[in-house]
Amino acid sequence: MSLEEASQKIFDSLKIVDKMYEHIRLIDPVTKKIIASYGEDLSRAGAECFALWKKGKSCDNCVSMRAFNEDQTIVKIEYTPDKIFMLTAIPVELENQKVIVEILKDTTQSMIFQSGDSPASSSIVCGIIDNLNNIALRDPLTGVNNRRFIQEKLPVNLVLASTSNQSLSLIMVDIDFFKKINDTYGHVAGDFVLKRCAEIIANCAKRETDWVARYGGEEFLICLPGANLESACEIAELMRKTIENEVIQCDKETIKITASFGACCTTPCSGETAKQLIERADQALYVAKEQGRNTVEWV
Ligand code: GH3
Ligand code: MG
Ligand code: MG
Repeated sequence: MSLEEASQKIFDSLKIVDKMYEHIRLIDPVTKKIIASYGEDLSRAGAECFALWKKGKSCDNCVSMRAFNEDQTIVKIEYTPDKIFMLTAIPVELENQKVIVEILKDTTQSMIFQSGDSPASSSIVCGIIDNLNNIALRDPLTGVNNRRFIQEKLPVNLVLASTSNQSLSLIMVDIDFFKKINDTYGHVAGDFVLKRCAEIIANCAKRETDWVARYGGEEFLICLPGANLESACEIAELMRKTIENEVIQCDKETIKITASFGACCTTPCSGETAKQLIERADQALYVAKEQGRNTVEWV
């Protein structure tokens, strides 16, 4: 049975609850392509799934990618310029391939908002939806992306890089002797240092497609789509110098820090996964630490 035939079976079986949706579509969340679709003519097979939302780019908070990664059903509210949808993403195994069934329900008129607002044209409601959707992907302390964002975004960036035959570089950053900062100045000052560090890093990776995420406690990951190893190392060096020269003023304390950097770049056609690429950046970071810290290394 082809994937299209298998998806038709799913569409047929869902007809019994047809009040639950206006549209169903089968998505490959990594390539962002629609495999098959059923219902109102919102999107066609072969098209990009995110075109529906008319935001001009793929969603940072892709519900299907999360359903795919976490292997469970995820629900999200999303809007187009004139409609609000409830979107349910269900992971299924079809013809030995894991894909996502997206069930879309137009809730523009039926969703009950406590304020009594009509949701359709309310910018307040759209703002609330954006906030709710973004909260899951932001690190509350530093405001940069969180680890879940990495899991959802990096595999997609890698597919895009390989289909457009472009390179992609990663930089892993770890603040040097950060435990000592906490021990000397306290955790509140430590938090302040982390925030300032995140700002500096984000300011150095400013192209529209670049992103920064907090990978762990005092570790950050930077993704530079389109950048080769040389430019990634230049950006890492700029971050390193800016952090080294920064005088962090926290209450009455003057704090100086340094950080170590590991960079790596995709190799065309290597088929390297997001996890493998992160491991390489981490290996380079390990070498930077071994070299005495406050340096940029690459593999
Ligand atoms: P190295 O140069 O080898 O990286 O040494 P380090 O001291 O930076 O590394 P280590 O892994 O020993 O310590 C990291 C410290 O980061 C320990 C932990 O308490 C602290 N940390 C992790 N998350 C946070 C946070 O959110 N806020 C604060 N203030 N500290 C944190
Ligand atoms: Mg660390
Ligand atoms: Mg450290």
